[in-house]
Amino acid sequence: MQDSLVNLPHRSIAVVLGTRPEIIKLAGIVRALGDAAVVIHTGQHYDASLSDVFFEQFGMRPPDHHIAIGGSTRGNQIGTAVSELDALFREIDPLGVVVQGDTNTVVAGALAANANEIPIAHVEAGLRSFDRAMPEEHNRVVADHLADVCLAPTEVSVANLTAENIPDERVVLTGNTIVEAVERLMPSSDERRAIIAEAGVTRGAYVLATFHRPENVDDSDNLEKILTELAELSVPTVLPMHPRTVARVTEFGLESLLAEITSVDPIGYREFLSLGAESSLVVSDSGGVQEEVSIYKRPLIVVRNSTERPEVLGTFAELVEPGPGIRTIAESWLEDIEAVHTRLAGLPSPYGDATSVNRSVEAIEGHLHA
Ligand code: UDP
Repeated sequence: MQDSLVNLPHRSIAVVLGTRPEIIKLAGIVRALGDAAVVIHTGQHYDASLSDVFFEQFGMRPPDHHIAIGGSTRGNQIGTAVSELDALFREIDPLGVVVQGDTNTVVAGALAANANEIPIAHVEAGLRSFDRAMPEEHNRVVADHLADVCLAPTEVSVANLTAENIPDERVVLTGNTIVEAVERLMPSSDERRAIIAEAGVTRGAYVLATFHRPENVDDSDNLEKILTELAELSVPTVLPMHPRTVARVTEFGLESLLAEITSVDPIGYREFLSLGAESSLVVSDSGGVQEEVSIYKRPLIVVRNSTERPEVLGTFAELVEPGPGIRTIAESWLEDIEAVHTRLAGLPSPYGDATSVNRSVEAIEGHLHA
């Protein structure tokens, strides 16, 4: 049993999560809520390498409740999760529900809480890509508008919520809990050296890459372009492969492109942070990685058409479509990577500091404690 930092009854706040980034960004909040938290895992990410390892590394107790929505269509995942969460919320009768981010889990958690008239806190509220082709954009808009308190990570996200007429009293600027997650789990420099040695790369002389967004990996042209660019870089690339990406590489017959890339299974957070912090640069379509590079100060090529995290563009990150732009930018940074690292080392992260966890929990307690 953990000591609660808050004055809330036992098992009174339902924390709904289902994917790797939700576990990472909610770990600190669950810890701070202590016995007040009841954790519900929707099973959206059911693979142990995308879920269990994060519970272990953050020292979280296993979820109190599991439902199983994984591996289905978006509508089916949302529908099943709403129905299962509805039943659980009736049983647990929480004072509030906490959801995070932009997944099918977040939209289902918010809808089920709303249907049961339970107050909702949305962690990482107010992000907008303004790209309606991304399902995540719809998920985050719905969650923000249903939420009783929107925990916004930056002034940009506060402004997005204000522009959609969400009243000020429902918005709290908290910073992003990722900062605390990175500071808590970043291994020491000796441990980082051991981890990168095991991956077969040398400090400051390799690229870390990840890809899993449907627009990149479900499109055979885009996936081929990305893998070709990585294979032809002048330094080695380490590519932890999301199960979705592995499946598409096989389906499209692109295995030969992996010969020049160190492709590995998805790795734990401590390993991923180590490989990122010791890399020359990072290439990714991930949301969370855009925030993390601003904490461990490495440059990032975001391979996407749009981003909901403009705070890092022009400083830590450049937005590039799949194709030759990846290699052009990477090689221009690699020409004098030390100078790039020195420049970034002097820039603060736009996502705040490790106080974001306590600020979030205060806002949750203030708004959800009926
Ligand atoms: N990550 C990890 N191991 C990996 C790949 C990613 O720990 O092999 C972490 C990464 O540091 C980031 C998070 O997973 O914090 C990103 O998850 P994902 O890209 O699935 O989701 P997104 O952030 O795009 O919503």
